[in-house]
Amino acid sequence: MDPVYFDHAATTPVDPQVLDAMLPYFTKSYGNANSAHQHGRDCKVAIEDARELIAGLIGAEPSEIIFTSGGTESDNAIIKGVFEALSRAGKTEIITSPIEHHAVIHPAEALKRQGATITYLQPDSSGIITAEQVAEAISDKTAIVSLMHVNNEIGSINPVKEIATVCREKKIPFHSDTVQSVGKIPVNVKELGLDSLSISAHKIYGPKGIGVLYVKNGTPWIPWLQGGSQERRRRGGTLNVAGIVAMAKAMELSIYDMDKLNNHYKKLRAVAISGLKRKFNGRFVINGPEEGGVPHILNVGFKTADDKGLDGEMLLLNLDIEGICVSNGSACTSGAMEPSHVLKGIGRSDVIGKSSIRISFGKQNTLEEVEYLIEKLDGILERMMATVS
Ligand SMILES: *Cc1c(COP(=O)(O)O)cnc(C)c1O
Repeated sequence: MDPVYFDHAATTPVDPQVLDAMLPYFTKSYGNANSAHQHGRDCKVAIEDARELIAGLIGAEPSEIIFTSGGTESDNAIIKGVFEALSRAGKTEIITSPIEHHAVIHPAEALKRQGATITYLQPDSSGIITAEQVAEAISDKTAIVSLMHVNNEIGSINPVKEIATVCREKKIPFHSDTVQSVGKIPVNVKELGLDSLSISAHKIYGPKGIGVLYVKNGTPWIPWLQGGSQERRRRGGTLNVAGIVAMAKAMELSIYDMDKLNNHYKKLRAVAISGLKRKFNGRFVINGPEEGGVPHILNVGFKTADDKGLDGEMLLLNLDIEGICVSNGSACTSGAMEPSHVLKGIGRSDVIGKSSIRISFGKQNTLEEVEYLIEKLDGILERMMATVS
């Protein structure tokens, strides 16, 4: 039996339609998009078509779309690039939150070596930062505000439109990591008022290693990857033609199927929650919003009678033995025994933090698979709880 995969917030399989779209660009149209001959031109056309499609899907201009190697590069590029553009004028403060993805937190922390200060806004217990908090925090030293749209561990949704309004009034560039929101909830840069955003293909049934950075024309920003003149000198490096074609297809499909898939995830999530209530009533908590978040993410922590909590790593391993893939917090920090920084950030105790798992649904998951998860969880937790107390 194939494993039951509930880790779609970590990555997704490539959709067969996406694979079909990208394959010709490996062996048939394999040119370098910078070349002046026919092979080059074919690729250039495919890339510019993809750029236009992507721009249209998020309400941007094609000239505002830059192809990168993924969400991590896009987040790094904008945070470091805006800081470089503004720090010499004394704007050295980065406003963000402690529950951002490490692709935002770590570059911000690294900029401390160049004089940056970081203001971390405290989210509420469901993971939300308000526009009022941002308004209060902004100072004449603020270079950039970076707050994610959808949290990848707990599924909370920040009010980015309201936050963007505050930033625009104070003329501060606002970046939002939209890796988990594109294809899940509507993302339109004009509607939301964003100055920049990040997208990653592999979270939406595209391949790993390709992403988008949208930067609104006029945003103070110095590109950080120098090389050839690709991407109008904003990101050097031979363009990943197949990846770019795949990115466009993945975005198109996921946005087109969004409502249908969300209804599917809502059902899976509701069955999971009612199963948990049936088996573990009073012995589990939902981390993040029970309602009002994105339906493809469900993060739960288990309580034990002795209040010492469970070994989440062990729970993960036991589920893996049963052929079930979930995650404890974000995959990037798995292996380290630290409780998730996101769960800590929303005020969860270390005990709940280390006893938590993230279940993230994808389009191929079925209700039967969710029932299977609940049944296996029941057996494993009974065993584990018997051994802790
Ligand atoms: C996965 C993820 C990233 C990193 O994207 P990569 O393409 O894997 O580098 C950044 N932010 C969020 C919210 C993510 O979920």
